[in-house]
This record gives sequence, C-alpha cells and structure tokens, in this order.
Amino acid sequence: MHIEIQRNSDVSITKQIYLSILDHIRSDLLEEELQLPSVRELSKQLGVSLVTVVKAYQKLEQEGFITSVQGKGTFIRKTKMEETSKEGTHSYDWQLSVQDYLPRSQFARFHQVPEKIHLSSSMIDPGLLPNRYLEQEIHKMLSENPKVLSQYGEIQGDKALRQAMVEYLQRMDLPTSPDNILVTSGSQQGIDLIARTFVGPGDVVVMEAPTYPGAIDVFRGRGATILTVAVDSDGMRVDLLQNLFDKYSPKIIYTVPTFHNPTGAIMPTKRRRQILEIAKSTQCLVIEDDPCSEIYFERKPPASMKSLDKDGHVIYLKGLSKILAPGCRIGILAASGSIFRRLLAAKANTDLGSPLLTQKAIIPFITSKRMMDHLKKLRTALKIRRDLVLAILTLHSPEEVSWFIPEGGLNIWLTLPSWINTDHFLMEAKKEQITFLPGSACYPTEQENHHLRLSFSYVNEQQLRQGVTTICNLLQSAIDLKTSQDSSSHF
Ligand code: PMP
Repeated sequence: MHIEIQRNSDVSITKQIYLSILDHIRSDLLEEELQLPSVRELSKQLGVSLVTVVKAYQKLEQEGFITSVQGKGTFIRKTKMEETSKEGTHSYDWQLSVQDYLPRSQFARFHQVPEKIHLSSSMIDPGLLPNRYLEQEIHKMLSENPKVLSQYGEIQGDKALRQAMVEYLQRMDLPTSPDNILVTSGSQQGIDLIARTFVGPGDVVVMEAPTYPGAIDVFRGRGATILTVAVDSDGMRVDLLQNLFDKYSPKIIYTVPTFHNPTGAIMPTKRRRQILEIAKSTQCLVIEDDPCSEIYFERKPPASMKSLDKDGHVIYLKGLSKILAPGCRIGILAASGSIFRRLLAAKANTDLGSPLLTQKAIIPFITSKRMMDHLKKLRTALKIRRDLVLAILTLHSPEEVSWFIPEGGLNIWLTLPSWINTDHFLMEAKKEQITFLPGSACYPTEQENHHLRLSFSYVNEQQLRQGVTTICNLLQSAIDLKTSQDSSSHF
C-alpha cells in the first residue's frame, strides 16, 4: 500500500493518511478483513509520528471503515461500503508489504455492471452504436488483408487512420496534420502517456473539482501534487486558477472544457482563451480532454482550446469510446514539437503501438457519410434520454435537490442536501439494483460527498424511468426521515 505524504500541502498529514486509506478501500485495492500495518509500522514507513497515524486510524474506525481487534491488529471492515458482514479469520497478508505506486483506481469499482440499472459509468447504450457495421468491416478486412494480424503497425498509429482523424477533426474546425497525431488505446492511455512523460513526484497538476476520476487516479499514481479549481456553469473558474498560479508553479492543467465530466458544463471561448494566456505566460501544458463534444443537444459547442492554441501548449485528446466503439480502444492525441516527440517515445515504451485490427476496422466508417449520420442519430437519442431524466427529476425529486442542465454529453450532476453522503446512499440504491457515481470519486483532494452523477446514456428509456424515479423516491424517504427525526428531537 502506497501512501503519498505531501508535507507542503494545506491538508493535514493525518487527513492525507485517512483519505489515502479510504481511497484504497473505495478502489477495492484493500480487501475486506485485510490486516493493515500496525500504527508503529506505518508511522515508521511514512516518517510521521505515532499520534498522526493513531488519529487517522481512529477517524476511519469511527466511520466504520476499519476495525481494531485488541491483541490482533487493525483490519479493513467493508460493512459500511458494502453492507456485508462476514465473520472470517483475520490473517496477515504479506503481499501488503510489497510497495506499490497505485494510490487509487476508482474505475474498477464502477466499471463492473452487476446491477440491473446502471447509471454509474458514462458509456453509450450498445444499441446506439454501429456494431453490426463494424463487425462486417472487420470480416471484410480480414478476408482482404489477413496479414493485419501478423504484423506490427506503426507505433504512432496507422497512417490511414491518422489521415482520417485529421479530416474528422477538420470538420470540427480543428486543423492538424497526420504527423501531429498519435493513436492511443483510448484517451485514458493519452492521459497516462502524458503523466508518465511529464509528471514526477511533487510536480503540480491543476484539475477541476469535481473532475473525471480516471484522470485523478493517473496523476495520483505519479505522485503529483494536485491542486484543484472549482467549476461553475462555465467550467473551470479562471479567477481561482489565476490565484493558484500566483502562489504555485503548475506544470499541467487538466481540463474537460466541453460537456465537463461530471457536471456537463461548457466553457465559453473567453475562458478558454484566458486559460491559454495563463499557460502561455507560465510555460505550462494544458491537457484538453474531449470525449464527447460531438454530443450536443442545443447548439454546437465553442471551438476547442487546441484550435485556439498557437504555441503548442495544448495536448488534445479525442476518445472514440463515447461516440463510436469503446471496445476498439481507440483515441488520438494531438500535440506538436518536442512535446509530441516525447509522447511518441512514451507510447513506444508502453505498448509499441495500438492494435492494428481495430485501427483499420474503423477507418471506412469514419471516412464515410455514415459517421456524421450516426452522430446525428446519437444526439437525437441521447437528447430524448436527457429530457426524460430532467422531466422525472422536475416531477419527483425532493425540492432540496438541485441539478445542472447539461447541453450535451452523457451525465447529469445532482447536488443533495449536505448531510446526505452519496457513498452511503449508493448502498441504498444498490439494494434496488441501481448504481450511480458518488461524487466523492470525482474530487482529487478535499472531497464533497453530497453530489452524485447520473449517466443517462447507457440504459434504455424504461430502465432510465424506473432508475431515476426510484432514486428520487429514496431521496425523498431519506429527507422525510431526517425531518421527522429533527422535529422529534425538539420535544
Ligand atoms: N476522459 C474522460 C473525461 C472520460 O469520461 C473518459 C471515459 N469515461 C476517458 C477520458 C477515457 O475514455 P477512453 O479511454 O475510453 O477513450
């Protein structure tokens, strides 16, 4: 278990230890009933006082995440998170003493789909994707070009695909060239390549709060010092960003400016330009993560930050998972100059190139009119689902609950009364076979626990209706219970 202690952080060391162990538990990196290092061992390992560790363990124990057994040690108790209570044998796990560099991995937890109504990870309903067509393309390609399986492709990515992506991006008013495109295994790999190339322990990375959990996990894994900037309806708040730059020297800003994950906010052009100005004057890199700017419901979103960038500060990531075929694991990264060359070298170190089969398979679709027709249909289908969720929320959600209306993307971000912890509320929803993403997963540092993200893109309309209505009813019951408890305590 790797606990990263940042001594110059505003967050106390006790809290860092507490949050780190909590992240490990939430990521399923620590199994139920696993023995934690003793207070003495952990304080020695981290170079902190015994009292600091004791306080962190005490807080975790008070909240029901761990349990201390006199004479035996301290153990993970998942009863709080998973509502299971097994009386098992406590055993010391020697594997825990193997040092790792993986502080958290929330993805694994929300990517499995055991529940019936899956509103947690933002994936597209397979019924809305052109699977049949891609399947035919793969058969056709294999019969015409069987060697595709017996050769390496170019590390940078298949040239024809890079050319196809240049034309695709051109339609989105983003001019680039095949030489500046790197094909990645999804944009998740793009984030990872950037982090492993440019982020070392202590380097400062600025992220929105809340933000995409998969990016937090990668930067945390590199030992970055993550500073956060709050988001409003126009995305990352530039006034707060400027304050951070007055005090620190960030190396990277990670942002999802269009249909921000999880809030759905769209950053206007003015803010995009302001962030670029800050990056330019401080020689900072900007990662523009763009998984779904094509999925707009009202008006086309503003031009990408990359298209406004004249000096090579922006590394642009376009994933194809949200619009075409998550199973193909294809995304692209667009950058320039020596930044690009170093990322290409990182890609070589990582996997020597993405699979040729899936790269070749999507080219005919992307280059034909089918792609644009498909995107149009996708927008229409997802707008219907978004409107359905908004209508149910308006009708059934308690008045204490608020939300942001997304003009595109796949998610709706809900804010609940501050006393509702959505990690715990998730357990209630799971009893009804429903999942959502609890807000805590989306905060890199100080967590806010009273938000949740509903993805409306994966389940069909009937399940969506059932799932969102049930969530509203569960929330209403929780609020009614609290109100009656509060009023009875006055007597
Ligand atoms: N960035 C954002 C903002 C995302 O939401 C996701 C997927 N949920 C990714 C990156 C990773 O997507 P992929 O690797 O499938 O392209």
